Amino acid sequence: MAKEKVLVIGAGYSGVAATKLLSKKLKGTDTQITLIDRHSYHTMMTELHEVAGGRVEPTAIQYDLQRLFCRNKNVDIVTDTVVAIDKENKVVKTKLGEYPFDHLIIGMGGEPNDFGTPGVKENGFTLWSFEDALRIRKHIEAIVEKAAIEPDAEKRKAMLTFVVCGSGFTGIEMVGELMDWRARLAKDFKLKKEDFTLKVVEAMPTILNMLDRGGAAKAERYMKKHGVEILTNSPIVEVAKDHIVLKDGSQIPTHTLIWTAGVKATSDAADFGIEKARANRLVANEYMQAKGYEDKNIYIIGDLVYYEETPGKPTPQIVQAAEQTAHCAAENVIASIKGGEKHPFKSNYQGFMVSIGSRYGVANLFDKIKLSGFFAMFMKHVVNLKYFFDIRSGYYMFQYIMHEFFHIKDERNIMRGHSSRYGNVLWSVPLRIFYGLMWLIESSKKVVGDGQWLKPSTWFGQGSWFTDHVVFPFPWLQEQAATTGASAAGGASEATSAASGAAASGAGEAASQAAQQAHFGFSYAYGEQPMQVLDHMPKWFESIMKVMMPNKEIALFFQKFMTVFEICIALALIVGLFTWLASATTIALVVTFCLSGMFFWVNIWFIPVAFALMNGSGRAFGLDHWVVPWIQRTLGRWWYGDVKSRYGTK
Ligand SMILES: Cc1cc2nc3c(=O)[nH]c(=O)nc-3n(C[C@H](O)[C@H](O)[C@H](O)COP(=O)(O)OP(=O)(O)OC[C@H]3O[C@@H](n4cnc5c(N)ncnc54)[C@H](O)[C@@H]3O)c2cc1C
Repeated sequence: MAKEKVLVIGAGYSGVAATKLLSKKLKGTDTQITLIDRHSYHTMMTELHEVAGGRVEPTAIQYDLQRLFCRNKNVDIVTDTVVAIDKENKVVKTKLGEYPFDHLIIGMGGEPNDFGTPGVKENGFTLWSFEDALRIRKHIEAIVEKAAIEPDAEKRKAMLTFVVCGSGFTGIEMVGELMDWRARLAKDFKLKKEDFTLKVVEAMPTILNMLDRGGAAKAERYMKKHGVEILTNSPIVEVAKDHIVLKDGSQIPTHTLIWTAGVKATSDAADFGIEKARANRLVANEYMQAKGYEDKNIYIIGDLVYYEETPGKPTPQIVQAAEQTAHCAAENVIASIKGGEKHPFKSNYQGFMVSIGSRYGVANLFDKIKLSGFFAMFMKHVVNLKYFFDIRSGYYMFQYIMHEFFHIKDERNIMRGHSSRYGNVLWSVPLRIFYGLMWLIESSKKVVGDGQWLKPSTWFGQGSWFTDHVVFPFPWLQEQAATTGASAAGGASEATSAASGAAASGAGEAASQAAQQAHFGFSYAYGEQPMQVLDHMPKWFESIMKVMMPNKEIALFFQKFMTVFEICIALALIVGLFTWLASATTIALVVTFCLSGMFFWVNIWFIPVAFALMNGSGRAFGLDHWVVPWIQRTLGRWWYGDVKSRYGTK
């Protein structure tokens, strides 16, 4: 039997969600799923304003489709533009070819709607694609540069006036970015922050109309406090090159009008011959099947679909609706392939969140929890991180964390830059080498024992960790050692003997006296007995250790292994090889030593030092400079395959 062909058009939120679900549930069936998009990447549309407003690098919101679907073997990716659909013969036509289908899901999204306002296309900017975001960013940089050398004050003011039309998510998030970006632009072009004028122009009497009024009022207060002028009841009727005209006839001189006032269905789907409703959206029934083509297995999802769940109210053009319509359509395709009942669409929206710049936001969750400021922004990041979990992309989750929290410039994140201070790793090289040497010397002592450093033939003897004396101060091992005639304190350093004495029940008087006289401190004070972090093991840790080291033989193996392991860690730190991992391992070792009752407060600095060295210090004068990029390249190619600018095209 021929393979069942499922075609998904559009790799936006809806297309990706549908394809992921189809791939998972049709695994093992004779089905081939093809995802066609005009780009080789998925755009994180909800973060477009961050690129347009110079917060993150453009690539931060582009997620390569091959990387997203590399483990979905039943999915083919095609980079091509769909131009027509032959519904009778069930064939999708693209610029470069034709794709027959048995089931088709269309998730081609929307585009800005200027409602025919003169001049928007020619003189304005829109924000509904990756290209739009880049265009705005480049324009702003160019116009500010031009303004900085403009001698005419009026012209300069017009150049530094940025007007956002529309106060929905897109408009408010965009102006929020401009608010944050102002300081950097002013600094770079030797201007003052006050030279910039930011305006939101809204045709309705209120702003952020999808939010509750309390949340919208907080957002408005915040924007006004940061110098954003908000004009309501002010429809724009014309956009010229250097000004805009409002309905009341007034003009605002500006060279930058960002139009976010409306969304309509993508014009690429206008000629598909499927019934259209408001804003050209394609009408579907409750199963997301295209109206009139239910027998052809054609489904519409995302921003493109027009389905009234309650009369007069179509599904909103938001991510949650995109994903939920996608899941509905995908489940129904699966039902017709595997056999089963089709399910009608049932929405479950969990709320709204709007960011205003990088440090403030407003959120309304489940219509119950209202958040603003840090907590709203935090929730927005949580929701974005959950998205990567939903699409099963650990790689992009990691990248998101890096670019939003660790690689952000100008304090443009909720940590106000504290998590992303740029520093020169070169300055941590001496610390790395010192820390490595410290581990090398300490671990080497366990090899040399009471022998002489320059005479290898004297190593591994008395006092080293390579004799048959157990050095761990664990009571059950010490008891075993005592019964086999071994000295309870043998092999360990004086301090360790004291520790073992304290830990072992009924141990020698000298040890318990030493423990009693111990003084707390972070550095060694002459004549003072340093204090252990813990003078006996917690019970839970003891149980783990008893499993790991039940008897003397295994303990002896462990102590030798640990010595070699510590030498390897030390050498790795010195030469800067796998520095992050080596440093993290030393933290784990120190925590283990502390719990074992073998570590002193005076050495607790190991932990903060190890954290400091996880800053990529091996990349400066260390082998990590070459090794880590090589591993990233090789593993990336092996796991994800070759990343291409076009997929699946002939
Ligand atoms: C700046 C901004 C901020 C936003 N913020 C939020 C927010 O905070 N919360 C929220 O819920 N929503 C937000 N939205 C709305 C949200 O992004 C959309 O609802 C969502 O992207 C819709 O998903 P989709 O899959 O229907 O369409 P899209 O994500 O637009 O994807 C459509 C895909 O189809 C492809 N395509 C189109 N035409 C063709 C063709 N002819 N051939 C091949 N491929 C084609 C496109 O390349 C694209 O990949 C925001 C939107 C913007 C622009």
